[in-house]
Amino acid sequence: PVVTRFAPSPTGFLHIGGARTALFNWLYARGRGGKFLLRIEDTDRARSTPEATAAILQGMAWLGLDHDGDIVSQFDNAPRHAEVALDLLAQGKAYKCFATQDEITAFREAARAEGRSTLYHSPWRDAAPDTHPDAPYVVRIKAPQSGETVIRDQVQGDVTIRNDQLDDMVLLRSDGTPVYMLAVVVDDHDMGVTHVVRGDDHLNNAARQMMIYNAMGWDVPVWAHIPLIHGPDGKKLSKRHGALGAQEYQAMGYPAAGMRNYLARLGWSHGDDEFFTDAQAQEWFDLSGIRKSPAQFDLKKLENICGQHIAVTDDAALRRETEEYLQAAGEPAFSAAQSSAFEAALYCLKERAKTFPELVEKAHFALASRPIEPDEKAAKNLDTVSRGILTELTPHLQNASWDRETLEEVLNGFAAAKDTKFGKLAGPLRAALAGRAVTPSVFDMMLVLGRDETLARLTEASA
Ligand code: GLU
Repeated sequence: PVVTRFAPSPTGFLHIGGARTALFNWLYARGRGGKFLLRIEDTDRARSTPEATAAILQGMAWLGLDHDGDIVSQFDNAPRHAEVALDLLAQGKAYKCFATQDEITAFREAARAEGRSTLYHSPWRDAAPDTHPDAPYVVRIKAPQSGETVIRDQVQGDVTIRNDQLDDMVLLRSDGTPVYMLAVVVDDHDMGVTHVVRGDDHLNNAARQMMIYNAMGWDVPVWAHIPLIHGPDGKKLSKRHGALGAQEYQAMGYPAAGMRNYLARLGWSHGDDEFFTDAQAQEWFDLSGIRKSPAQFDLKKLENICGQHIAVTDDAALRRETEEYLQAAGEPAFSAAQSSAFEAALYCLKERAKTFPELVEKAHFALASRPIEPDEKAAKNLDTVSRGILTELTPHLQNASWDRETLEEVLNGFAAAKDTKFGKLAGPLRAALAGRAVTPSVFDMMLVLGRDETLARLTEASA
């Protein structure tokens, strides 16, 4: 069975790159009936904060990336990591190194002066235990000294590293604490992780992690190191490209489904499919579809995909999500009446909105209650002449049957009788019904508001 994991370091918010890594692992596991685990890599005590963990969890919750089992704290596993180091020591696959920092520095300086590799070679690697001093030591792994290490990466292909470029890395520090590289391997092994999908900034680590797997005789997971995300200018994504945090996109009101779809397309593709559902993404997602070159973050594409998701979401769900958005944003909640008016209006709004706040803005006519205050532009469409026209029009609507066809007939007939175009009526009607100059179609507004409310607004505006 497939087991993937997301292993963020809790040193900041969930950024777009991390969210995509989490999503890829989630898709891979969910599409294969596997498990998606979450491990917080909190071994760096100085930089890890509970606020960052909370922000990462919040971002994942927003994106709907649910994980299986308990959240694993890497720091909590430190005794187990140390145990593995001691096991390797007992097996003779690691050794105690008593070199002092000064000795190591001197070694490096001499190597540099002689133009040799500065990789440290400890004299303690093959020292007999009875020569060991009673002094502090670190535990180092015995790195292979010849041959090659090949990482069979699902994205990068086979990556070959000459073993003489690997040093006897430290597993346990002199205070007995395990290093990060050991922690990752032991945790991935203990958690039963079968597939590791992560940023290619960890590719170099893979070669060193492989030494530990090999020394312990453990199966190496399938690795897929994905290229980092770049901005539209081809440079590594950074603040100057715009928002970096998943939470910022939530705050801007993009729907989570659209965000998932967009992030999935960021570096992975399935033919020419741009728009897909979660079910399709889970079915289609595969490591072979991950591109080797960095993906470029493109806000226009994100908006386009989010717009498509809003357009296909059913009205009740869209209303619910919008209300959740308002709540998360600390905006006033809809009243019961607004809630149903909003849902009723959605059918004519959702075709062109990319975010929840845009929907709310477009729904102004449905959310507003009398008296409708026209804004500056709308007020210009309610001059004396226009108010006169609305007064004349109102009786024609009093008994009309309230469907689109009839309303079109009535308004077009009225315009013809006045020897004018419907367009001339639209401005005053928009101003009366919505208090705005730009609104959804007049007919849609009338249908959503219903006869009584429409007539009340027309009467009020023409007074
Ligand atoms: N904690 C690492 C990071 O946040 C990820 C390590 C891994 O996935 O192996 O970059």
